Amino acid sequence: MLVQTIMKNKTKQVKYQAVIAADECKGCERCVNACPKSVLQMGREFNFMGFPYAVYVGEGCIGCGACFYTCPEPGAITIVKVTGD
Ligand code: SF4
Ligand code: SF4
Repeated sequence: MLVQTIMKNKTKQVKYQAVIAADECKGCERCVNACPKSVLQMGREFNFMGFPYAVYVGEGCIGCGACFYTCPEPGAITIVKVTGD
């Protein structure tokens, strides 16, 4: 039972993802340039202020926080921890 529990815990992966609040983004691209995994890019659409906004490509975020700390707009980026299987 204990072994099963340990093995189950070992297979659990912690994943992260970046969530961009499109209407808070000013399109400065700092996060895109700061990301060591190149998982952020500028989207082709515009937010309500007329700025293009950053988007997360959907995979590969390591939760380092570089995008969060470089972003000048409070609330534009949130890093979310996702527990996988
Ligand atoms: S937390 Fe790190 S890896 Fe994830 S999107 Fe931000 S800069 Fe990239
Ligand atoms: S650093 Fe912040 S304001 Fe600049 S593009 Fe990224 S999310 Fe938008």
